[in-house]
Amino acid sequence: MADVDAIVVGAGPNGLTAAVTLARAGLSVRVYEGAATVGGGARTAELTLPGFRHDPCSAVHPLGAGSPVLSGLGLERFGLTWVHPELPLAHPFPDGSAAVLARSVDETAGSLGDDFGDRGGDGDAYRRLLGPFLGRWDGLAADVLRAPLDGWPREPLLYGRFGLRAVLPAELLGRAFTGERGRGLFAGLAGHVTAPLTSPVTGGIALMFALAAHDVGWPFPRGGTQAIPDALAGLLRSLGGTIETEHPVRALGELPSARAYLFDTDPAATAAIAGPRLPSWYADLFLRRYRHGPAVFKVDYALSGPVPWTAQAARRAGTVHLGPTMAEIGAALRSAHQGTEPRPPFLITAQPSLFDDRRAPAGSHVFWVYAQVPNGWRGDLLPAVERQIERFAPGFRDLVLARTIMTPADIEAGNPNNVGGDIAGGRCDGLRLLLRPAPVPVPVPYATPDPAIYLCSSATPPGPGVHGMCGYHAARAALRRVFRAPVPAEPSREEG
Ligand SMILES: Cc1cc2nc3c(=O)[nH]c(=O)nc-3n(C[C@H](O)[C@H](O)[C@H](O)COP(=O)(O)OP(=O)(O)OC[C@H]3O[C@@H](n4cnc5c(N)ncnc54)[C@H](O)[C@@H]3O)c2cc1C
Repeated sequence: MADVDAIVVGAGPNGLTAAVTLARAGLSVRVYEGAATVGGGARTAELTLPGFRHDPCSAVHPLGAGSPVLSGLGLERFGLTWVHPELPLAHPFPDGSAAVLARSVDETAGSLGDDFGDRGGDGDAYRRLLGPFLGRWDGLAADVLRAPLDGWPREPLLYGRFGLRAVLPAELLGRAFTGERGRGLFAGLAGHVTAPLTSPVTGGIALMFALAAHDVGWPFPRGGTQAIPDALAGLLRSLGGTIETEHPVRALGELPSARAYLFDTDPAATAAIAGPRLPSWYADLFLRRYRHGPAVFKVDYALSGPVPWTAQAARRAGTVHLGPTMAEIGAALRSAHQGTEPRPPFLITAQPSLFDDRRAPAGSHVFWVYAQVPNGWRGDLLPAVERQIERFAPGFRDLVLARTIMTPADIEAGNPNNVGGDIAGGRCDGLRLLLRPAPVPVPVPYATPDPAIYLCSSATPPGPGVHGMCGYHAARAALRRVFRAPVPAEPSREEG
């Protein structure tokens, strides 16, 4: 008899979703987390000054709000409230104008017209590119974020039509636009993944983020991202599961006996913890040699006022991309991928306190910024980051009360899954979003040769993001193989 049905190592969004999925099936579940709090890449902390609540890792959650599994768990009962900014995204240009990704397709399309003197008017191109998929998020997300080779897509025609476009590199698919506004906006969306714009599937990433803005939104959790794992932990405890924090796991032998072990960890760490339980051919080929991608250089600011964007639209947006053209964004992402400093960097920024008064003292603000840099990079990007912000918001530096910088080494120190500062759980170029951790198609990528051991971190499909889908699919694989239990369908929004 095992001490417990299932043990999950790591309380990131995927570990917690795996634990909840198993507990919902009636199993006893215990989670061990190395850090002092649950959340992994989904946490909130006063990093700079008292009262300023920053997200050290993820901040903006189209994939969380639109996740087929998270949206059906009723996390609102455990304290999660989504806050929607007036505009999901603004993409400013140095002339003081901006393309926007609004909830409304019309407003978005309207912002792509009148290109500065060159060819323009990309509103119709935007409608044509997204039109077939608008209003169909639930079916599309379930198919795109499903476990590979796990049965037929729910909506095969829609999925097939999407796949034909999605497989293209963003640089190619972005040629649907003739002007810099459409191309720049599209490139910025693809820049949420750590791969060059010439890499396959990056076009699909951009499409998914655009569709999410119209169908789901790009919200922040009220009070900070920590609300997501806290809600998952609350749900898990309500189902009888337990969580031990400040308990880093170094070897399987340290743990109580369990019928299944699920690892929300880096593949090489999984090999080290599992030790001889995994055959050396498998550990060597698929886990120890697993490759990591570009890192990020992150700055969290406490500001005495809102960012003084020249473009008015950026003052209404939750997320602001800084890197105007496809060429500039493409060069920055390519540099990070090829091991050189991006000049200038492409910045993804977020300003949650404009829409949530729980994030900073009255009148002041938190501001979240990161840029891609090479894995393990040791340079100082701060001057380049602030030059890029000043380019679009002159006077920004005068508002800075405090800042916390996280280099790739700091990012790894905060979470061992972020090897070399990689926030995506492994390389994302080529087909590595689909084929992970093994670089070849395997029937169940979550399973290992030991029938009791599973991987459930973002080093498995569908990869990075706070959506919990890796954990959900891994838990389903364990339910099917170890517990011979009926595999639950995704919880529906109505159920939630
Ligand atoms: C700077 C940054 C910005 C990001 N921005 C966004 C964003 O805006 N939106 C978005 O959707 N995603 C974003 N992401 C990505 C997102 O955070 C990750 O994809 C997601 O958190 C992965 O979840 P996970 O559960 O697989 O792993 P993680 O979140 O990394 O969690 C793994 C957990 O396992 C624990 N652990 C590891 N090893 C052990 C061990 N041996 N013993 C015990 N515990 C262990 C870790 O401490 C950690 O808590 C960002 C990430 C970073 C770092």
